[in-house]
Amino acid sequence: MPATTIPDKPIDMHVHVVGNGTGGTGCWLRVRACHRPLAAMMLRHIGLPAEAMTGDLDRLYVERLLDLVRGSSLGAVVILAQDDVRDEQGGAMEGVGSFYVPNDYVLNLSREHPELLPAISIHPARPDALEELECCLAAGAVMMKCLPNCQNINCSDRRFTKFWERMAEAQLPLLAHTGGEHTLPVVQPEFAVPRVLTRPLECGVTVIAAHSGTKSGLFDPEYFHVFADMTQRFPNLYGDTSAFNVPLRGRHTPECLREPLASRMVHGSDYPVPVHGHWSWMRGFVNWEAFRRAERNPNILERDYQLKVAMGFSPQTFTRIGSLLRRPFGEV
Ligand SMILES: [Zn+2]
Repeated sequence: MPATTIPDKPIDMHVHVVGNGTGGTGCWLRVRACHRPLAAMMLRHIGLPAEAMTGDLDRLYVERLLDLVRGSSLGAVVILAQDDVRDEQGGAMEGVGSFYVPNDYVLNLSREHPELLPAISIHPARPDALEELECCLAAGAVMMKCLPNCQNINCSDRRFTKFWERMAEAQLPLLAHTGGEHTLPVVQPEFAVPRVLTRPLECGVTVIAAHSGTKSGLFDPEYFHVFADMTQRFPNLYGDTSAFNVPLRGRHTPECLREPLASRMVHGSDYPVPVHGHWSWMRGFVNWEAFRRAERNPNILERDYQLKVAMGFSPQTFTRIGSLLRRPFGEV
């Protein structure tokens, strides 16, 4: 039986793994020509050469991630699988998505490396959604990740009630993307509003709104206040701080530091999304020394953590997720 242990140390609960399938991982990656410079920049930012994209990316990416986690203040990171974009019948919409990471891949990685905790991804319209969920629960899943706007998931669809109920029963939390998205193709922009998460919340699922509904692009609608209002209605709704160190998403940091929201926030970086302290420094959220110290640190997982500590997020923000993740093998 695998020994998934959730550490008491800080946890980064929003970390992507990607791969091009070398080594038989089952991952794939389709970077459109217009996104190639961005992808090369992201690789450089995490310390990998641009050539890794067409080389042994899967192995290099995981080795680099492990180095960064081990060289940081973090006890573990939650790595995210990524299901296909699917139609209403659950069939994969070929050529629409930009990357795929199988559940088995993240489950196997976490079995080999205790610093990596596995978050699975299942489009609930899949004909085998419930069977896949059972397999992943048995294999040690601690969380489920989806992007309703990019993967075309209508969370209010009545057919998915059993799926949400089983997640609630298994105490498997849902991390769902909210707000605009600019690194992946968006299929259903109207599914970016946190309100679409009402059904799983009503079914008793612990839901974490990734990015807390904040906007990413200048012309995206802003859903932060929708998220904040919903936390009043749903005690099982949380928000993550992922990508708060890109230009726009961190704008609402002061509200996130104050109650009633402060006790609903969890720490995530959205690795490998670039981390820079310029915006929080310019907004006066961190001082010059903290900004410079963070910029000098080449470890972007640690840089993101240090910037958020400097912004004033409480120590509980970094450990709270430990009490929300499923404890797969009954340990406390
Ligand atoms: Zn993400």
